[in-house]
Amino acid sequence: MNFPMPTLRVTAHGLALEDVPLTTIAATYGTPCYVYSRTAIEEAFERYRTALPPERAEICYAVKANGNLSILRLLAARGAGFDIVSRGELERVLAAGGEAKRVVFSGVAKGAAEIRRALEVGIGVFNVESAAELTRIAHIAREMGRRAPVALRINPDVDPKTHPYISTGLKRNKFGIPVAEALALYRQAKSMPELELVGIACHIGSQLLDPSPLLEAAERVKDAVEQLERNGIALRHIDLGGGLGIRYRDETPPDIPAVLRALAERFADRPERLMFEPGRSLVGNAGLLLTRVEYLKHGEEQDFALVDAGMNDLMRPALYDAWHEIVPVVPRSGPVRRYDVVGPVCESSDFLGRGRELALEAGDLLAVLSAGAYGMAMSSNYNARPRPAEVLVEGATHRLIRAREPLEALWALEQ
Ligand SMILES: *Cc1c(COP(=O)(O)O)cnc(C)c1O
Repeated sequence: MNFPMPTLRVTAHGLALEDVPLTTIAATYGTPCYVYSRTAIEEAFERYRTALPPERAEICYAVKANGNLSILRLLAARGAGFDIVSRGELERVLAAGGEAKRVVFSGVAKGAAEIRRALEVGIGVFNVESAAELTRIAHIAREMGRRAPVALRINPDVDPKTHPYISTGLKRNKFGIPVAEALALYRQAKSMPELELVGIACHIGSQLLDPSPLLEAAERVKDAVEQLERNGIALRHIDLGGGLGIRYRDETPPDIPAVLRALAERFADRPERLMFEPGRSLVGNAGLLLTRVEYLKHGEEQDFALVDAGMNDLMRPALYDAWHEIVPVVPRSGPVRRYDVVGPVCESSDFLGRGRELALEAGDLLAVLSAGAYGMAMSSNYNARPRPAEVLVEGATHRLIRAREPLEALWALEQ
């Protein structure tokens, strides 16, 4: 079988991530459990890092895809900057030893306390999404006697051809500033002494499989940069966002170095440094969710595999009807049936996969593949379910990078 995860292997003892059998992980840490491959994350990062010379491009990992400190730490050690969307993510980056100067603060509704904290620690740039936010940042910077580094996130109005919930670069989306309004706002920003204009940004959506909308957005950004230059506004960097897609099923993901080089080509005559904000394409195919079959239920119309992971652990299928490959850890012979693989949560949207052809018995382990991005990050405690443990493997070693949530933690803040 040709798995969508580069470091997942078939062995005599069943599936292994790198050299660690998934049966060992289940026996050591229990299920459900997220398991990540350090090698897969580092290789994905290296594809970005080596695509262009470092003086030409900077890679800022989008923390929201998976903010585990151990993952942030290993990316920081390889030279990653970070794209954040909240104070919580900022504190995670700092706790992991990330450099404040290499932090990009994205997000449409930054709160005053978040802006204050980001200024206090000295982040690299605020990607500003509205005139009102620009005014707020300037006001807070003045109060603090600081200068705030800002870039405007423009909305290039291109269709990224992805799921509507993860599409961000169309006029009807809440993100960014319309190109037509950007020049006036840059002029306004330039007149404010507490702001330092450092860049321009865009991000059009996620799980992009076709790179042409990215190239189209890049053209719009370039037009804007040239217009700004004619108006006496010089910038230091051009941030092209993240969004490159990965293989979940049989998609052909974009070739990362080729896309970065094609984008850089468009800016060959520009001196500004480029920036990228990948999330999913760094960690998505590096992780899986390990779960155990509790029961099989053979209904009149549908066979169900009832497993110990639910929509609270991995929300993507319920939220976007997303498809994750589901494979038995130790394959068995026996009758194959078409199962809906469903969790214990009391919702009919609680499924991990539907209509999967599997030979199963109660107690079997299943691996839900390509769950490294927006898996644990989107998990919740719905139904008073503690969130899963997270484990990092490297070669033949494995270690816990987040303990399974103790039940008491669920009500620790309650009266
Ligand atoms: C979510 C997000 C990213 C990362 O997107 P991926 O699809 O995970 O690469 C980058 N930049 C911004 C502004 C985002 O909101």
